[in-house]
Parts: sequence; C-alpha cells; structure tokens
Amino acid sequence: MQDVRAKKYLGQHFLNNEKIALKIVNLLSKTTEHVVEIGPGMGILTEYLIKNNYEIQTIEIDKESVDYLKSKHKNLSIINDDFLKINIAQKFSFKFSMIGNFPYNISSQILFQIFENKDQITEVVGMFQKEVAERIACKNGKKRGILSVLIQTYYNVEYCFSVEPQMFNPPPKVNSGVIKLIRNKRKDLKTINKKFKQIVKMAFNQKRKTVKNSLKSLSLEKNKKIEDLLNLRAEQLTTDDFILITKNASKNKYK
Ligand code: SAH
Repeated sequence: MQDVRAKKYLGQHFLNNEKIALKIVNLLSKTTEHVVEIGPGMGILTEYLIKNNYEIQTIEIDKESVDYLKSKHKNLSIINDDFLKINIAQKFSFKFSMIGNFPYNISSQILFQIFENKDQITEVVGMFQKEVAERIACKNGKKRGILSVLIQTYYNVEYCFSVEPQMFNPPPKVNSGVIKLIRNKRKDLKTINKKFKQIVKMAFNQKRKTVKNSLKSLSLEKNKKIEDLLNLRAEQLTTDDFILITKNASKNKYK
C-alpha cells in the first residue's frame, strides 16, 4: 500500500527512525496493560506496541491513515475520530497508558484533555514540540506556564530525550522532545478544581508582575503565608502554593 500523504493541517510528520520508535515505546512501564495510542499515522510506534503484546486501542482522525493501518494490521482496534472530541470516560472502561507522537498544532488541548482525565490516564509517553515538552517538565523558572502547573499537579514529569527534525517525514520546522508523565498520589481537587484552574490561569496572565496584581479580584483572607506568596511571580509558585491560595479564596467566597 502507498504511504499516506502527509497533511499539514493534521500535524502529520511521520517518524522514520525505528530506533527512536523503539526507544519511545520502551518508556512505557513494564506493568502497563492497556495502551491508547493517539494519532498512529502509518503505525511506526504501533508495530512495537503490537510486538510487546499490549492491549491496544488507537485513535486516528485521518481516514487515509486508518485505511493504511487496517491493511497492515487486520485485528488492530482503530477509532476513526478526533481525540479532542472523545469522551474518554464513556469510551474506555479501564485505566490506560497513553502514547503518541502528538500533532503539535493541538498540544495544549491534548494536555488539557489529559488533565481532565487524570484518574483514567495513569501514564503518558509522548512527543511534543521541544519547547512544549520542556515547559511541561519545568519545575521552576521562566519556562513555567499554566500547563506546567496543571499537569504537574497530578503527574510527575520527566524530560526523556530530544529528537531532530530529520527523523521525520516531512521534517517539522521545530525540534521535538519526548516526555513521560506518571500519575502521582494527589487526589482530584474536586470542588475546588475549577477555581484552581481559573486561579492558575489568572496568575499566568500577567507573568511579569507579582501575583498580587493578577489575583487582586479574589477576596483572600490575608495571613503571613498568603502575603508572602502574593509577592512572588506566577512562575515561582508551586502547585501546593496554588492550592493554598485556591482554598483560601474558596473559603472567603462562602462567608
Ligand atoms: N504516530 C505517527 C504519526 C505522527 S503525526 C508517527 O510517529 O509517525 C500525528 C498524527 O496524529 C497523524 O497521524 C494525524 O493524522 C493524527 N492526528 C492529528 N490530529 C488528531 C486528532 N485530533 N485526533 C486524533 N489523531 C489526530
């Protein structure tokens, strides 16, 4: 069968290096049972997943790629749909590891989808644009952003390795980076989850200023700890700091 024609609007850059494909698949934990692959394309990662005998589900938006994969792997389960539109809890009744060379044009939405489904997605091994991968893995400093805080709230993140553009067909304009996310022990923030997200976003909206400025619309009960945090910039705050601020803000709202 003919190769799939790379479609730019779907972020299609096909990995063409077997060693790297194997290296990525080998990042999955040995205890993994169910693997969901996003955007298998022509299946370079899928082949190794099959070899490793995982229970595999794939989600691919591109019909041409789906036909290609079906011709090669008769028994492969392929959902021909947009990953961002899928209701994960409804579609899958089990917990799973997620893997993919993700389409870079929708990386933020993919990460939000992971955040929202953290209790079902126990692990993620994924390739992103290098800057995005570094940002998600960044524990402190200038590279931190909204998604670094949100993802690190529920996952331990490790930057694994970088991949050069020549390893893809067609080569992307940017470098790539592979990261691994492992669900940590933090429980769902439940009632304050929405508020937490909102406060993280507000704080990073004015990154250069202290959070006192960006969060002035919140009615916070000031104490020494809160005062100290408000004098920092968003990138200097940890997840625990943001949770503390959120709890404080939620408390006062109901006074
Ligand atoms: N995994 C393959 C392809 C990577 S390119 C490889 O490593 O070679 C990104 C893949 O994601 C493409 O196959 C593209 O069709 C698919 N894709 C893009 N947007 C998607 C979406 N919203 N949902 C599911 N798949 C998507």
